[in-house]
Amino acid sequence: MADEDFEEVLGRFADAVRPAGQEAPAIASAIEEVREALPRATSLAEAFGLVDRLAEAVREAYPQGHCKAGCSGCCDSQTAIFDVSPVEWEAIAHALDGWEPERKAALAERFRREHGPRLKAYKGLSLIRYFEPVADRYFARRPYSCPLLENGRCSVYAVRPLACRMYGYFAIRARFYERPAVYGCGLQTSYYETRDHLALPAVNMVAAQTRRLTRGRARILPLWLTDRL
Ligand code: SF4
Ligand code: SF4
Repeated sequence: MADEDFEEVLGRFADAVRPAGQEAPAIASAIEEVREALPRATSLAEAFGLVDRLAEAVREAYPQGHCKAGCSGCCDSQTAIFDVSPVEWEAIAHALDGWEPERKAALAERFRREHGPRLKAYKGLSLIRYFEPVADRYFARRPYSCPLLENGRCSVYAVRPLACRMYGYFAIRARFYERPAVYGCGLQTSYYETRDHLALPAVNMVAAQTRRLTRGRARILPLWLTDRL
């Protein structure tokens, strides 16, 4: 993300969230801190800590938001099909290794039942980068739920991938000349948009910095899981 874009987003935060004459809000100082620290992060864990810090600042700024523990609508939809880098997967695989055998067996059984017959289609969709009209048609007939969703909660929450940490708390800028759009579900989007501003950190800078810390070919979760279960 270009510096001036970031400044613009930061400026909008300050204007929108800070009443005139008052100190910069926590959300603006969190962005400033993260902006300093993220380019120097040497591990994905460190970058994730910074992303979580930003998400927490958004939560504090908008305490009435829907995006909180107990809501898992995005994990329970095709939104949950996204690329996971090898280093993100290693962290998840390590967490799964620590599970009790019964819990692991239940995951494997659920995974085989719900996703086994669809793996070929998932591979095809990831080859065409989830080309939306095709993906929409496919998932309209076969609703998708993240295999790691367990009783409505993320079973690997502490090591969940970057996409899961940002969804619902960040904005995304598709093109440099476009205004940022909420990177989240319709529920959370309409919550922010009923405010007269869109004061969220932008995904772009974080994604660019974390790409620097991840190597190797990313795959979707069901494809990583096939190797493990
Ligand atoms: S992004 Fe939307 S569906 Fe997902 S947890 Fe937040 S409010 Fe719920
Ligand atoms: S890894 Fe966890 S947070 Fe991410 S989509 Fe799956 S269940 Fe949801």
